[in-house]
Amino acid sequence: MAMHGGAAPRLVMKNPIVEMDGDEMTRVIWAMVKKQLLEPFVDLKLEPYDLHLPNRDRTDDAVTLQAAEAIKRLGVGVKCATITPNDERVTEYKLKKAWPSPNGTIRAILDGTVFRKPIIVRNVPPMIRSWVKPIIIGRHAYGDMYKSAEMRIRQPGKAEVVFTPADGSESQRVLIHEFTASGIVRGVHNLDGSIRSFAKACITYALHDKVNMWFSGKDTIAKIYHGAFREIFRQEIEARKADFEKAGITYSYMLIDDAVARAVRAPGGFLWACMNYDGDVMSDMIASGFGSLGLMTSVLVSPDGHFEYEAAHGTVQRHYYQHQKGEATSTNSTATIFAWTGALAKRGELDGTPDLVAFARALEESVVETIESGTVTKDLASIAAPPVAQYATTEGFIGAIGERLSQRVGAGLALL
Ligand code: NAP
Ligand code: MG
Repeated sequence: MAMHGGAAPRLVMKNPIVEMDGDEMTRVIWAMVKKQLLEPFVDLKLEPYDLHLPNRDRTDDAVTLQAAEAIKRLGVGVKCATITPNDERVTEYKLKKAWPSPNGTIRAILDGTVFRKPIIVRNVPPMIRSWVKPIIIGRHAYGDMYKSAEMRIRQPGKAEVVFTPADGSESQRVLIHEFTASGIVRGVHNLDGSIRSFAKACITYALHDKVNMWFSGKDTIAKIYHGAFREIFRQEIEARKADFEKAGITYSYMLIDDAVARAVRAPGGFLWACMNYDGDVMSDMIASGFGSLGLMTSVLVSPDGHFEYEAAHGTVQRHYYQHQKGEATSTNSTATIFAWTGALAKRGELDGTPDLVAFARALEESVVETIESGTVTKDLASIAAPPVAQYATTEGFIGAIGERLSQRVGAGLALL
């Protein structure tokens, strides 16, 4: 137990978390959350990497690679939203170049799968009445349409798939279509290794959260392509069958159209492993179906069990420009706070420090109670039921959470 300014004792951490600071409004929120909701209660042990855009530029983006390597070493990271620079940003920040998306870089190094999970609060009812528990989307982030080769066909002719073996042996050919009129054609691919990593990451997540797992495809049509996904998932599930039984969870493969129909009628509480395009589409449907981007968390899980937590939203640029002009903002910090609690709880779980897990849960409950008591930011005010007339500022919302948390911790509830 460490003492903090002679006041209440703070929790001690065994191993550090990789902290990745970021940009704009979320950077402002980041500092407030640390100062008001974490540091008074936890003697934070962090390995910091500043992914603020000017620092990525200064280090030629080396800081992003170092952060990813640190997650591999320490197992747990928490990341603030960051700007992915486009031409406008290159001018705005006078950058050497348009550095790649930090999330893309980190994902490639960790070979991870991204899971998005909504935070459920009673007074923000989902658009779909049956949803009472979260639906988590696990999206495969490699290949398919996102790494494809396309062609416009403007005259009659034959389009074929040709595979030329590197060893010089005979090529394989399949006819796609004999064109008699103009049209379009596209070639896509995926890799067994990537599909297997995706399956493993989903299994790790489902076992950790003790939620049933779905996987969907269209193997009745794409017998080889989607069939390979289905078969690799079956093999990986087979290997963890005993663990699924022990956790009391199930695995189901279903056709994508069947899965969509069932998801709408289901009460939630499952992980839906989606192929790349399906995950792209479904995660936006699920996010808006559950309410607000400010309530959507995201975690990158690597097949070897490394975890990186973040909010699903971006840097909330528009609010930042307001903030810079000295205007009051009402930015929802919920998903950012849950990124921290996710990382702290995971650290506590890996380190065998249950009091850290309990603190993370107490903070999450304080956030949920704050929202449910009617103290909400602007994004939730209009969709809350009952509606909220007076919404809180960014600072006011975090302050209200801090008060609740102090009461909980002060009363020794769920802590120490
Ligand atoms: P965004 O930051 O997610 O914000 C889009 C809009 O959604 C906001 O203008 C705001 O709407 C609303 N919103 C999002 N999060 C909110 C929150 N916590 N509280 C209240 N409202 C919220 O997306 P963007 O404006 O398209 O992108 C801004 C920057 O973020 C870009 O430079 C992009 O590269 C980056 N980005 C980063 C990540 C990441 O690091 N994971 C992800 C996506 C985007 P109103 O303005 O209507 O209030
Ligand atoms: Mg999308």
